[in-house]
Amino acid sequence: MRFLIFLFCMFLPLYPAFAAVDIALQGKDPVRLENVYQQDGIPYIAIEDALDAVGLTGYWNSITHSFRINTKRGLAEISPASGFLKIGGEYYPLKDKPRFIDGRLRVTDSFILNQLAQLSGRSIYFRNLDSNTDKVSAKKVSGLEKLFAFLLNKKTSENGPMIGAVAIDPGHGGLDTGIIASSGYKEKQLNLDIAEKLAKQLKMKLGIPIYLSRDGDYELTMEQRLQSASKEGVDIWLLLHAQAAFSSELRGVSLFVRPEEVTSNVTDQNDVEVFGSDSMQLATELARSLRESAIAVRGIYPSSRLSLGRGNLPTVQIELGYLSNPEELEQLQSPKYQDKMVQALYMGIQRYAKKSKEK
Ligand SMILES: [Zn+2]
Repeated sequence: MRFLIFLFCMFLPLYPAFAAVDIALQGKDPVRLENVYQQDGIPYIAIEDALDAVGLTGYWNSITHSFRINTKRGLAEISPASGFLKIGGEYYPLKDKPRFIDGRLRVTDSFILNQLAQLSGRSIYFRNLDSNTDKVSAKKVSGLEKLFAFLLNKKTSENGPMIGAVAIDPGHGGLDTGIIASSGYKEKQLNLDIAEKLAKQLKMKLGIPIYLSRDGDYELTMEQRLQSASKEGVDIWLLLHAQAAFSSELRGVSLFVRPEEVTSNVTDQNDVEVFGSDSMQLATELARSLRESAIAVRGIYPSSRLSLGRGNLPTVQIELGYLSNPEELEQLQSPKYQDKMVQALYMGIQRYAKKSKEK
């Protein structure tokens, strides 16, 4: 039987790539975890391994079908395929749902860096040893990743308009709601609202085609999300999301680019000169325009998720704000603030386009 399962696994079409990660509590030596699965560029780490690495304990409760973590705040609970962490009577949204892979309940880097760091009360250092491009390309690359790398190469257009077209991917949709705020407001709705408004602005003012990965409330596969970005003439790809944290204090927009594209001093508030890749330049212009519109920007960061989109198509993932901050939630829900945000994003794109034309 074991052998049969092994054989079956060998012929699974989307065989997950193996990865290794380093996890450490602030100031401690990192622990290397090898039994890590990587799917769609996201590392899945067995929850027991992750807890071990940060000095927490927990156990699987087969009656409640959930994993319980012992913390100073009491029992914290996660369940396979549930998008929430439960502590006491409170539910906190998770960016990625825990999943059973290879017989173990697994969580992603986002869970470790956000929820686990807060449960342990200390900062956690996390490094995906496979997010390094050179290493990844030397190793087996999944079919999907190959597709990404192939599709997301910028098509060179010497003359013509400043930007040929823009692709926008409003995150989540359908059953995949993304973060649900305490008010019931859903991330998928915010992402779509901003995407549609931004598309309208760009179409009206630049007169170029804008491709949305979805124009309604439905779920998409990774390939479908990619289709809009691989359309003829697309010079910019924006992915829209929102965040949540335990602390209701956190607020502001965060911008993400591929890890290899981040240049130093990116969180500098007074970015005088812009260097780096096209994605980095686009992110910098977006940050600048947002700040000028009095919208708080936390910074520009690397995202290992975007390593999926290897290639050189200028790509920025925009986390529009924190739905866990009551004040920011109210703003994000208001059409007026949404318009302000869209106007600033439009300005950033226009500035980026102008500069790349001058080059
Ligand atoms: Zn999201």
